[in-house]
Amino acid sequence: MGLIIDGTCDVCNNVPEDHRHLFYACTYSTACWQQLHQKLHITLPMDNLVNWFSTARVSKLQKRLIGACHVYLFYLIWKVRNEARIKSYVRRPEALVQMVLRDVKARFLRCNTSKMKQRDELWFQQLLWEVINAKEGIELKSGALECRRHEIFARWLAPPANWLALNIDGASKGNPGPAATEGLVRDSSGQILDAFAERLGERR
Ligand SMILES: [Zn+2]
Repeated sequence: MGLIIDGTCDVCNNVPEDHRHLFYACTYSTACWQQLHQKLHITLPMDNLVNWFSTARVSKLQKRLIGACHVYLFYLIWKVRNEARIKSYVRRPEALVQMVLRDVKARFLRCNTSKMKQRDELWFQQLLWEVINAKEGIELKSGALECRRHEIFARWLAPPANWLALNIDGASKGNPGPAATEGLVRDSSGQILDAFAERLGERR
C-alpha cells in the first residue's frame, strides 16, 4: 500500500518543493524577501546572508533587529507553506512582511529599556512609520482576499524629517446627534504646530 504525496510547491503550485526552493527560489518567498529588504532600506543577497551580517556597516542594534526580522520571516514562510497545504490559502507577501515588522518592533519596544543612540532612534522611527496603514489579509486560492481582525501594538509616531503628521478625531452624541471634531499637526520632533477643535452641529 503506497501513499502518494504531491511534491509540488503548495505556495506557487509550480515547481517541485525542497527547502531551497521554498525559502529562497519560490516566487512567493522572493517577493517576501524583496519587500522586507525594501522596508528595511537594505540590499541583502539571500545567497550570502552570513557574509552580510559579518561585514555590513550598520550598528549592532540595527543588525540585531534585521536579524530578528529574517529569522521571523523564515518561520512565517514555513507557516504559510503549511497553511497552503492544509487550509488552501496563502497570505499575501505584504501581510507577512507587515507582520514581521510589527511584531519585531513591538517586542523590541517592550523589552528594550536602554536609551538608543540618535542614529538608531531615527532609523527605528522610520521603520515604525512603515507599518502605518499597512493592509493585511490572506489571499484564498480562488484569488479572493479575506481580511481578518487582529490586535496591533499602537502608539503615536513622529513622522520622518521634513514631514508633518495630522491626527484628527471626531465623535457624535447619538446618531444623529451633536458632533464635534478636533485635530493637531506635529512635526518630526513631535512639536505641535497647529491644533483645532470645532462643533459640527447635528450630524449623522
Ligand atoms: Zn514555490
